[in-house]
Amino acid sequence: MEPYLLERYDRQIRISGWDQWKVSNSTVLIAGVGATGCELAKNLCLAGIGKLILVDNDVIELSNLNRQMLFDDSDIGSPKAIIAKEKLQKINPYVKVDAYYEDIRKFDESMLKNVDVFCSCLDNWATRRWLNSLAVELKKPLVDTAIEGLYGNVQVVIPGETACLECHGDALIPKDTQLAECTLRRRKPEDLAEDLRKNKIEIPFELVKELFSMGIKTIYDLKYTPIERFQKEGSKISEEILRIRDLLKPKLPAIQGGASVIAGVASLEVLKIIHGGSIGKVAKHLIVYDGVSQRLTKVTLKRREDCFVCGDIMQGKPIEITVSPDDYIWNLKEKVSTLFSIPDPEIQYKKWILKDEQKLSEINIKSDDILYIHTSRRYVPIPIKVSLIENSSGT
Ligand SMILES: [Zn+2]
Repeated sequence: MEPYLLERYDRQIRISGWDQWKVSNSTVLIAGVGATGCELAKNLCLAGIGKLILVDNDVIELSNLNRQMLFDDSDIGSPKAIIAKEKLQKINPYVKVDAYYEDIRKFDESMLKNVDVFCSCLDNWATRRWLNSLAVELKKPLVDTAIEGLYGNVQVVIPGETACLECHGDALIPKDTQLAECTLRRRKPEDLAEDLRKNKIEIPFELVKELFSMGIKTIYDLKYTPIERFQKEGSKISEEILRIRDLLKPKLPAIQGGASVIAGVASLEVLKIIHGGSIGKVAKHLIVYDGVSQRLTKVTLKRREDCFVCGDIMQGKPIEITVSPDDYIWNLKEKVSTLFSIPDPEIQYKKWILKDEQKLSEINIKSDDILYIHTSRRYVPIPIKVSLIENSSGT
């Protein structure tokens, strides 16, 4: 390593077990460049990480400036990831920074193959779940963070070893988020209109029907479906979705101190993962920070072998499901939903996504056929094997 770099990193090289070569040759992905994302990116940049990949699909707003420390007034209206890159390169020009102003769910996984650690600094569960599932699929460590007011938490996911975000999702994912998505898709446009009214949003019924026909059937879909999917339908409908999404967006309380504690903890975990344990053991539990009473608590989370994302049952052969030719697709969805505890299954047979009102006998599905279950909570679909029982109505 060049002498000027050795001098730059001199004080951290003095940490017992530190290996600057490992740090300078590692790549870290940061999804979400808000309060925690800015802080975490700054910490890792200062430490001389080899490459940072920043992904965020938002632009800077005035109300971000109380806590998103890489931005100032002149940045309002500009993409967060791009501006963060500019600032980080001034902080440490020896770090390579790639910035993407887009939804990470549009990323091709080949772009992420060389990432050593995934970091989630996202503000919504839909994308956090997606990233969790991608990390498990690619067997990459994930450091997940969240803040709210004076509270925050950090969870390290080592696929196959520690609990993932879904292992205890029933207990840890806020009930309102679960309720919002806990609806099988047998819905009518009237249901969506009613849900919108409950959120004090009135829109013309024609628009509700149009949204419905495009697959937006719940508040969850409205909030979290990647907007790029609708841009080809014309700017009018994507503008409407963005307008409604803004009305639905929860504005959580947030302050810089909480973000910097959480990002500080997260950055040390990233560095420990990169070092493979030589500077300290990686935290294999949930870390909860309570800034009101100044407490940092470890919460032990066991990995669930039946977890529908990281569980052992997902690693082996497809699970067999017994169905009757008389079943409708929505019967099958109910079974799958209960079996895997996923709220929003879509079922794929060959290249088709099956409709609720289709009957299995009409689709000509045979025993041992493989169906694929899609859910917004998983990056890759779950394969299931069908076992057909005799048609009971014929006897
Ligand atoms: Zn899991």
